[in-house]
Parts: sequence; structure tokens; C-alpha cells
Amino acid sequence: RKVNSSMSFSGSCFIVLLIQWIALDRKCKPLNKGTHNKLLVISFDGFRWDYDQDVDTPHMDKLVEDGVKAKYITPPLQNAIDLLCAFEPLLHPVIRSIHVMSIPFLLFQGLKTGSFFFPGGGANYSGQCVNRALVEETGQQDDNETEWRQNIDTVLSWFTEEDFDFVTLYYGEPDNVGHAKGPDHPDRKTIIKQIDRTIGYLREAIQRDGLTDNLNVIITSDHGMTTVKKIPLVDEIILSKYLNFFNLVYFELLDYGGFGMITPKKGKEQHVYDALMKAPNLTVYKKEDMPENFHLSKNDRMQPIIVIADLGFNLNSVGRLIVYVNKGDHGFHMDEMDMKTIFRAFGPDFKKSYLSEPFDSVHIYPLMCKLLQIDPAPNNGSLSVTEGMLVQNDTSRELLLESILVSKCMTVSIN
Ligand SMILES: [Zn+2]
Repeated sequence: RKVNSSMSFSGSCFIVLLIQWIALDRKCKPLNKGTHNKLLVISFDGFRWDYDQDVDTPHMDKLVEDGVKAKYITPPLQNAIDLLCAFEPLLHPVIRSIHVMSIPFLLFQGLKTGSFFFPGGGANYSGQCVNRALVEETGQQDDNETEWRQNIDTVLSWFTEEDFDFVTLYYGEPDNVGHAKGPDHPDRKTIIKQIDRTIGYLREAIQRDGLTDNLNVIITSDHGMTTVKKIPLVDEIILSKYLNFFNLVYFELLDYGGFGMITPKKGKEQHVYDALMKAPNLTVYKKEDMPENFHLSKNDRMQPIIVIADLGFNLNSVGRLIVYVNKGDHGFHMDEMDMKTIFRAFGPDFKKSYLSEPFDSVHIYPLMCKLLQIDPAPNNGSLSVTEGMLVQNDTSRELLLESILVSKCMTVSIN
């Protein structure tokens, strides 16, 4: 309504106002284009999209009313990312989950950012990237609820006491329990209840610390989980039954669950491809033919042949004995519903009771940049997919700010 009234001023009045605006610009500029709310991104590793549907989760249910829920989101091919990132200590799970190296990038745009994750296995940031990035690692048991709450207190204090703009918080559950016991085990439900209580605590703590009106929160995850199918119930996919490794294969990354990559010997690409096409329960891709939504075909470190086992199957290169301790696993094709994961969001910039259609997790990054009002680095995401969940788009926000500014300046000049 304010926007409309400012637009209906007559021409001359507008020029007067414009001059006043320019004159008063310095005094009268409480809000500017760079004003943004703070952002907390929380990742609960391996939270399958439907984990809250067979458990009582009052706090997550309340979030549906108070914010945005996507029906589910589609992660990138997780084990591919894991393998590609094996030599990239800069990447940690939260960043992987949003599929970009956003933190070092954000640091260069002058934002204060931090990251909190445990246990161990997490990475530190390279020296010159660290602005005020605090990285905490404890290496302790990962399901201690008291500690989970302390972590929330810590990251909220980074916002309130140290004026951070953007913080990521990572929890290793329910991935751990999903691997160890399988997604259908009662212990998985117990952890989901604990996560739900933690989200309840987060919301209390945000209110307690006075952050309700200037902190946006995204809760998401990096992938889902499925029950591993084991012998004798199913056959392992032993690739050497179909492929002469000695003659055809130069290098391979196999035996890591359901995803693998192969570099054929020179000139043998088609041979390898044709041979693997005969294997059951397996999808074979040439790098250049990978589906667009893998977002990997242009990645330098992808090898020429990519193999993905059917849901729940493991790859075994030469039939060696692999002891599968996992009862659950991920890294299977992201079109499988078991690989889908969650997206929830709330805060001043998010609509309430907004149910988003499913989307690919690559679109979270441009959303984060939009919330922080910074320019995104080149990426595969698109803001148009996610901006419908925001209260207002940039133009209307700017118009609103302008009209507030104009009316304030008018008041000043009249007085
Ligand atoms: Zn995992």
C-alpha cells in the first residue's frame, strides 16, 4: 500500500521529493540496499525426506506453519561428490550439501562467516580464506543432546556477540544411525525425536537471544538413506564377471558402495562401456552422456565411465571379500525416493505456511546469496526456483524501502 501511495505523487511533487531525498540522503539512510538479515544453515546429515513421517515431531510440524517446507529436495549424486572431494580438504559436509564452495567465496565479499561441525573428519579453511571463520571440532560422540544444545548457544552467540552474517552448523545424525542400524531401525526414530527437540530448542534460543526478526534459518541435509541389500538375499555386482580389468582398465574407483568411476585404457572406452552394459542391477554412463541433473559432466575429476548400482546394491570390482558393516547407505541414483532429503526454512525473509514443490539442492546456494544480498559465484543453481518462498522480491523490497525513506524525509522537511 505504501508503494502505491508513493507512486501516485504528482510529477512536480516527485521532483521536490527527489531533491529532498538527495539532500537528506546522508542523514536519512537507515536502510540501504546492502541491508540483509543474518543466515544460519543447519545440516542434519543423511536426513531422508520422509523421516519425520513415522515419528512424532511437533517442532518440525510447527515449522511447517511458521515457515517454508519443500515436499523434498534432490541432492547431487552424493558418493560422486564424496569421491571428487576426497582430496579437497576445503570442503566440509555442510558445504558439500549445498554443492558449492560458498564459504571461502562469501568471506571474500566481506561477510563474517563461521562454521561449527563435529565430530572429527571436518576440515579447516585455508589460511588466507579465514576472515573470522571459527571452526570447532570435538571428535566426540555425536548424539549427545546437551552438546547439541550447547552448539546452538555457541553459534547464536556468534551472531549476537560477534555480529556474524552467516554461520553453518552441522550435525552428523541421523546419518550415523542410518548407516549403523538402517533407516527402518527404531533407533533412527529415537534420533529423529532428538533432532525435533533440538529444533524446538533452537527456536526458543532464537527468541531468547532476540534474533527472531533478523535471523533466517535453513534446515536441510545432504542426502537420504536406504537399506543395504546383502548376500545371500541379493547377488553382489561383481564387475570382473563382465569386464576384463587387466586388459581394459587403467584406473578405477570402485568398492565404495553403489557408485564408481573407471578410466579405461587408451582406446578401450567403448569396450568397457559395452561390457558393463551387460551387468545386471547397474547403470553405466559415459561422462559426456551423464544426465544434466548430475551436474557433474563438466567436472574435471570425473572419470570417463561412471557406474551406479541399483538402490541398495553394492559394487564389487573383482569379487574380493568386502565386509559391509553398513545396514544403510546412500550414494545411489538421486531419482530414487530414498535418496531425497529435507528442506525447511523460517525467519523474517521467508513466507509462512509455504509448501514448496520439490527442487534440486543446487538451487539453495543462489537463495543463500539472495538472503545475504551478495553476488553468487558461477553455479548450477537458479534463484527463480526458490525465490517464491521469500516474502518479497528485491524490486518490491526496494520500492518499499524507498517509500519509507521518502515519507521519513517528508516528515523531516515538514517539521
Ligand atoms: Zn553417510
